[in-house]
Amino acid sequence: MTAPIPRLEIKNLKRAYDGRAVVDDVSLQIMPGQVTCLLGPSGCGKSTTLRMIAGVEMQDSGTIHVDGALICDTVFRIPPERREIGLMFQDFALFPHLSVADNVAFGLKTGTRGEKRARVQELLERVDLARFIDGYPHQLSGGEQQRVALARALAPRPRIMLMDEPFSGLDNRLRDGIRDETLSILKEEDTAVLLVTHEPDEAMRMADEIALMRDGKIVQQGAPYNVYTRPLDRASVAFFSDANVLRAEVSGALAMTPFGRFLAPGVPNGTTVNIVFRPQHVRIDFDRAGKGPMPTASDGTAARGVVARARFMGNESLVEFRMDHDGSILKATVPNVFLPQPGSVMWLTIRRDRCFVFPMEG
Ligand code: ATP
Repeated sequence: MTAPIPRLEIKNLKRAYDGRAVVDDVSLQIMPGQVTCLLGPSGCGKSTTLRMIAGVEMQDSGTIHVDGALICDTVFRIPPERREIGLMFQDFALFPHLSVADNVAFGLKTGTRGEKRARVQELLERVDLARFIDGYPHQLSGGEQQRVALARALAPRPRIMLMDEPFSGLDNRLRDGIRDETLSILKEEDTAVLLVTHEPDEAMRMADEIALMRDGKIVQQGAPYNVYTRPLDRASVAFFSDANVLRAEVSGALAMTPFGRFLAPGVPNGTTVNIVFRPQHVRIDFDRAGKGPMPTASDGTAARGVVARARFMGNESLVEFRMDHDGSILKATVPNVFLPQPGSVMWLTIRRDRCFVFPMEG
């Protein structure tokens, strides 16, 4: 059996500005109907990657294939308008002087007037805006304009959709609904999607696959669950959520901490490691709060902390403890309402199966 051909395949893309590599050997495959999020901090090279695929920026080296056919290398280049790639950006500027119908029809180069009108009608129904077909952009809300922009981008049935922070201009309440709606339309159309974002929440919500980018390179790639639960390093944990860090030295493949011993298999004696864990994996001992030393629990030794601050966050409460052993702050999240008084003494354990042990970098 032959392997399925990716809708989009980029291989070893590189781009440097003034001698500085901003996209450094990036390779990626996206199948039809698959949504891949290029996720990373500002300036890591996400938009430059997208621009090269769109054809508005030339790579220094590397290739781009669509459905197995070469569309660009360093000598051969299909121009942007012939790549059958749809684009959506944060500033999705509709043409103010064109009606909604004409905005959506703008990218339709082929077909009779009747066919074009039918495609426009179909898409506006899909984004639930058929009633505005003869209206103008200024009569629409931001969210509605965004849906027209989606319809416009989809009208020519692009094989690939490139989206650069397309939802960041929308307010929070609108955003979730429009994200979900956009996703289901893109899936129905079987479009391969590359979505650029610096927001982990957005990537987790939208992506079949996340490609985590840092300093011009894809450092980790996989399903959202895998990227979140098997992070590459401390920075990857911290990129997705708050992270607590304990520093410890390894002896006999074990790292000793005030929370007990942690396995550090294969780590040489004397190496300093970071033990990293998320606030939701801290357990607070409610019953015995402040009542003397705790015995070693099955999931590790308890360490004592004093509540420094507690805040209600909506679905959970965030409690910050100043730890007895070194005065550091440790963050814990607790479902629902838990707002202990500052100064309360409590015993804490951590979910050992949710801790990551990384040798210290640098
Ligand atoms: P953001 O999320 O802030 O948009 P990004 O990850 O999309 O960031 P890029 O826009 O790809 O990052 O930029 C990567 C780096 O390349 C940045 O340091 C940027 O300043 C630099 N850069 C981008 N375009 C150019 C250019 N035309 N000339 C020089 N430097 C550029």
